[in-house]
Amino acid sequence: MSNEPILQDLLAFLGASPTPFHAVASAVERLAAAGFQPIAETDTWGDLQPGRYTFVHGGTSVFAFVIPDARPISGFRIVGAHTDSPNLRLKPNAEYKKEGYAQLGVEVYGGVLLNSWLDRDLSLAGRVFVRDGDRVESRLVRFTKPMLRVAQLAIHLDRDVNDGLKLNRQEHLAPIFGLASEGAKDLTSLLAEELKVDRDKVLGSDLMLYDVVPPTLGGRDQEMIFSGRLDNLAMCHAGLRALIDAAPQAAAGNVVPFVALFDHEEVGSESAYGAHSGALPRALERIVMGRGGSREDFHRALAGSLCVSADMAHAVHPNYEGRHEARHKPVLNGGPVIKINAQQRYATSGPTAVLFRELCAKAEVPVQHYAHRTDLPCGSTIGPIASTLLGIRTVDVGNPMLSMHSVRELGGAKDPAMMTKVLAAFYACPDPGGA
Ligand code: ZN
Repeated sequence: MSNEPILQDLLAFLGASPTPFHAVASAVERLAAAGFQPIAETDTWGDLQPGRYTFVHGGTSVFAFVIPDARPISGFRIVGAHTDSPNLRLKPNAEYKKEGYAQLGVEVYGGVLLNSWLDRDLSLAGRVFVRDGDRVESRLVRFTKPMLRVAQLAIHLDRDVNDGLKLNRQEHLAPIFGLASEGAKDLTSLLAEELKVDRDKVLGSDLMLYDVVPPTLGGRDQEMIFSGRLDNLAMCHAGLRALIDAAPQAAAGNVVPFVALFDHEEVGSESAYGAHSGALPRALERIVMGRGGSREDFHRALAGSLCVSADMAHAVHPNYEGRHEARHKPVLNGGPVIKINAQQRYATSGPTAVLFRELCAKAEVPVQHYAHRTDLPCGSTIGPIASTLLGIRTVDVGNPMLSMHSVRELGGAKDPAMMTKVLAAFYACPDPGGA
């Protein structure tokens, strides 16, 4: 696929996915349109037929794979990414009144650039649990009007603010939800109204804040993307689109291309839906067994497998070039970035870096390298976790971006199509051998 359709679809994906719940729904929608059929973890996988499958785990992580005609399965080609982004989330008893205002109590999720949430037009999105007869249904909700604001203090009341803004997470981040007027609707009533159900049917919710400004192209020549959640929905999108593109060819091979989009990466991945959970190893084992393989075949398939951990990378920032390692300064629209760290904060090894470089060469896509400054602590990804759990050879890569973990991030408009092309090549690649 050329640059333009991928770029437009990415902007639509980002805009439709203000929360991990919505990101999973957006992913499932694209997979369904490409012929991926849902399979539940509670189904029997004992007799898996060749075809395209997808399953959702816990509502916030989603997996998809293609079963080829051939048996036995000789390995997996896994692309891993994450559906969550740092943001502000409502506490259970969120509503309160103070000094004539209605406000909402929030928690900070992940490593938020707190200042970026100030004076933005914000709203709420998430999922709501609704009584439907004997069942409890989970429904997506999204308010589109800007109804929340984390208001800054006027400079006249804090003359030193530009010497360094200090935000107390408990005191200073609560958004204003309106004025505290008698008879104003509470949040539960607003949710019931939005979902067109009776108020007493609303049993609970998981709600988070998002910036209502839609994703857009930016820059003099529209060569950039301005959007929330590029980290890491841009890589979720590349992994999904590449799988859809690679599916026809994969059906004729003997490896299983697999995309795994996990929740909770931004808070350490330790949850039932994060990369530390057993969801991925269980699914891989069930696939091998479901194609008539033994446990021995499963272990052989793992040994023949490869993983790309796809998570956004730091492009060089022109105003802070000193924060970057001198010879590892990725640029926007310069192609995928291979991330390397000797402390294993990234899972890349010598052989997997070579593999990825070769894939880029084959796809005629330029490639860049990132290493963190040695005197700064390095971030991490799901790469080291997935590779530790499974013992699979892994490479950590991502597209370059600025403003990582801001409510409004900045990426390149040409990088998404390049990454998608390389990941499609990866899904079909033979085992290169090596350690
Ligand atoms: Zn990330």
